[in-house]
Amino acid sequence: KIHLMWFRQDLRLIDNQALTAAVEDKDAQTVAIYIHTEAQWDKHETSMGARAFVARQLQSLDAELRELNIPFYVLESTDFKASLKLLNSFVQMHHVHALFFNKQYEVNELARDKEVHQWINEIDCLAYIADFDDSVLVPPMKVLTQQGEMYKVFTPFRNAFLKVLTEQHLRVSKAPDKKAENVFVLDGQFESLVISCKDLVQYYEKNTCQSILENLPKVSETEAINSLRVFCTEHAAKYDEVRNFPYQDKTSRLSAYLVHGLLSPRQCVRRLMMVHPNVFNEPKSGAFCWLNELIWREFYKHLIVAFPFLCKHQPMIEWTKNIEWRNDMSLFDAWKEGKTGYPIVDAAMRQLNQTGWMHNRLRMVVASFLVKDLLIDWRLGESYFMSKLVDGDLAANNGGWQWAASTGCDAAPYFRIFNPTSQSEKFDEEGHFIRKYVPELAKLSSSTIHEPFAKNAPFGLNYPKPIVEHKRMREQTLAAYEKAKSFG
Ligand code: FAD
Repeated sequence: KIHLMWFRQDLRLIDNQALTAAVEDKDAQTVAIYIHTEAQWDKHETSMGARAFVARQLQSLDAELRELNIPFYVLESTDFKASLKLLNSFVQMHHVHALFFNKQYEVNELARDKEVHQWINEIDCLAYIADFDDSVLVPPMKVLTQQGEMYKVFTPFRNAFLKVLTEQHLRVSKAPDKKAENVFVLDGQFESLVISCKDLVQYYEKNTCQSILENLPKVSETEAINSLRVFCTEHAAKYDEVRNFPYQDKTSRLSAYLVHGLLSPRQCVRRLMMVHPNVFNEPKSGAFCWLNELIWREFYKHLIVAFPFLCKHQPMIEWTKNIEWRNDMSLFDAWKEGKTGYPIVDAAMRQLNQTGWMHNRLRMVVASFLVKDLLIDWRLGESYFMSKLVDGDLAANNGGWQWAASTGCDAAPYFRIFNPTSQSEKFDEEGHFIRKYVPELAKLSSSTIHEPFAKNAPFGLNYPKPIVEHKRMREQTLAAYEKAKSFG
């Protein structure tokens, strides 16, 4: 009896609900696969950094599964459609009795999985399919208003969410035990489709720039768990005080691990509770503040399930479809390259381009700048982020962009517009972060660095003048939003 574990964005052994279920039946042999769909990654604009990260983790998973005597194959396909065909014949050729996977909530992924569920009636050997809400603390559509609808505002969602979360038992399951050695014969037709993890790593590393590779989080499940442990014991207590200062870099840096499934959110909360047992009763604590961020993650995942159009480039607030964007591509290029003449924006964009990660405060600042200072459609920014972030995630990225553009849930009113210079003065007061990523400004004093040309920049400073004037653009943006709103 073959149980097939289909790995997707859940690349770990510990607390993997589908894997735990797959190995439970001692009479069954568990076989695991991962289907590499590069064309789908292209369609989803998955960054090279993310691909290299996933490839490295597949290599690590491969070694760990081998230790457990669980055969594991990374199979080559193109896109989701082709991957379904491959999976279907894999199931039939190997007489798979049961198929196990963890759910993904994006529109294309849901459509793919819906088709898989239909196989129950079509493939004789397949007795059942088991899928799990493994990437979330609480399954989508389980936290609803009294009218039975998804919340559109974060705070009431969080309060209701906490109630559900504390009522359920948060269990973290162990990695599977080592299996007895058992021969599994791969059908000949699949042999040519098996990719070696080493080759996959080499392929993506060759296509990823060196600075991104050097900055990737260390890849393995053990590294992910270590980072979580260190963060919870050393930094969580003060998270509320330090999380907004990019130069201090004291957030957990767990995002890529969570996105690609090297860690589960349950592990995060269990570890947090172990170190801070009163976290749920201390809403003013640093630990609770961090828990709150994990709930933002859930909020955005629940939202894309309740409102699938969010996955299709649609805003949450209808009238914002009427905004007339200026979409000046030369300004967009300057933003992408970190050459806007606004030091904090440029430092942040260069951090993204060089490392594949950006601090949350800066994600808010640069997103607001693109949309409200350059009047460029938020969707262009959203897609640029996906193409660069190692932790790129449709739900969180879309949520963040729509929040910044005031087109989404819990929108700050559109007339509240970040001033990039005051953000810089407030969150990088001494200019340390700017100096790190904009070396042209390294010699400027902390009073000049936030706005060099307003304060007698040194002669010959090799740095662009501001590409727009914040005050003027603020007015233009407000007018564009008001006009759009008046159309209804
Ligand atoms: P921590 O501060 O330590 O937070 C812990 C975890 O909580 C994070 O790892 C993440 O999983 C979750 N989290 C924290 N803040 C948020 C948030 N605002 N929304 C959703 N989840 C959150 N996060 C992504 O994981 N992928 C993205 O593609 C992404 N795009 C973003 C785009 C914009 C415009 C904005 C404003 C935010 C975006 N975020 C995204 C959220 C947030 O910036 C990152 O999760 C965070 O910076 C990751 O760093 P960390 O792991 O040190 O976070």
